[in-house]
Amino acid sequence: MKNSYNVKSKLALLVVIFFTYFGFSQGNDQEQIKKLYDAALTQGKGYDWLNYLSNQIGGRLSGSIQAQQAVNYTKSQLDSLGLDKVWLQPVMVPKWVRGTPEFAYFETTPGVTTNMAICALGGSVATPPKGIKANIIEVDGIEELATLGKDKIQGKIVFFNKPMDPTQINTFNAYSNCVDQRYSGALEASKYGALGVIVRSMNLRLDDFPHTGSMGYGEQSVDDRIPAAAISTNAADLLSTSLKLNPEINFYFKQNCKQFEDVESYNVIGEIRGSSKPEEIILVGGHLDSWDLGDGSHDDGAGCVQSMEVLNLFKKTGYTPKRTIRVVLFMNEENGLRGGTKYAEVAEASNEKHIFALESDSGGFTPRGFTFDSSDKDFDKIKSWKPLFEPYLVHYFEKGGSGADIGPLKKDGLVLAGLRPDSQRYFDYHHAENDTFEHVNKRELELGSASMASLIYLVDTYGF
Ligand SMILES: [Zn+2]
Repeated sequence: MKNSYNVKSKLALLVVIFFTYFGFSQGNDQEQIKKLYDAALTQGKGYDWLNYLSNQIGGRLSGSIQAQQAVNYTKSQLDSLGLDKVWLQPVMVPKWVRGTPEFAYFETTPGVTTNMAICALGGSVATPPKGIKANIIEVDGIEELATLGKDKIQGKIVFFNKPMDPTQINTFNAYSNCVDQRYSGALEASKYGALGVIVRSMNLRLDDFPHTGSMGYGEQSVDDRIPAAAISTNAADLLSTSLKLNPEINFYFKQNCKQFEDVESYNVIGEIRGSSKPEEIILVGGHLDSWDLGDGSHDDGAGCVQSMEVLNLFKKTGYTPKRTIRVVLFMNEENGLRGGTKYAEVAEASNEKHIFALESDSGGFTPRGFTFDSSDKDFDKIKSWKPLFEPYLVHYFEKGGSGADIGPLKKDGLVLAGLRPDSQRYFDYHHAENDTFEHVNKRELELGSASMASLIYLVDTYGF
């Protein structure tokens, strides 16, 4: 009887210790996460940084003066945070320039024309100086080119009008399902003798903004390349309706964009050195370059300032990380991914050990959660942290993609993650003239920064 009593009491003691320890530890996490959210919402710097990037610098296409200004500005701001190290990592980037504003119209009968807002796709060649005027033929995506064949396409302009699917709740899925017509439409249509391509903007909303974005010619010889441009969703609907009434419509467009030699630019990097495991690196980042039409507030000014804010919040709340926390503002995500590629090369050559990398490149909207590219074992651990985020209405923890810039780092044992904000409004602004500062909500941006800082705090505390 005595022995059994002893065993029972020891067991009870163990249970008490277990709950005290884990209860205390979880209480600690709750407390630290609350501090991070409070600091983001009351002492955040991200919104002011974004204001400067957007309104004082503007669109930051790789190789432009604005991209260099953004490098200088973000470096100076990181310098002011009292980090252990801030530096620039050189990288050669492509330089493509839009030139004078593009011009387009369609002609229903000779002399009867309707002007259309248009923008060259990034990387496109120019039209001949006088522009291109030809009959235009509509297709519902790349697949339809083969059905029509050379007979119907030769000598014409091809109009890719596959819309984003409105029934997709995650709008990025709708984007992925039709962005091939923007990226490869010109290359594919040229194989059938097309003279140029016009693409419906990647936008779910009906409005008047043409959206640019990257396109490529693969290995195609320069002489065979045909120009590509986007028109707005309203213009696409109008053109489509007009073509149904009169398939003989002519389309005219003129653009004088140009690709120059590569130029030197930089990834901007800063870090807080880990106190007990400095060799283990936790990366947080976004991309500093943007398209040239708007000022790149959502894509990806927001992700850059949120990533910088993570380090600022650790400083503000007096949190001393065990591991090295590194912010990276990547150059040239939009039209080359050179910054992300260079960063991974240097990390590999220097034998650096990254354990976690988080990218924010889906807009500065209300955070819903994160997606993780990881092993099942690591994901199980991450999922156990989910209840800590629920008070902040952040609940979407799923396996999935991370971010373009951190992709080249991918290797076994490294967990990659992406912030997942609400995606419903993202494509209203993406790569268009209206991707501007006033469309970013201060609190939504700050909640994103706090969510990122909280996740990184947990990774730093528990590791993988
Ligand atoms: Zn982006």
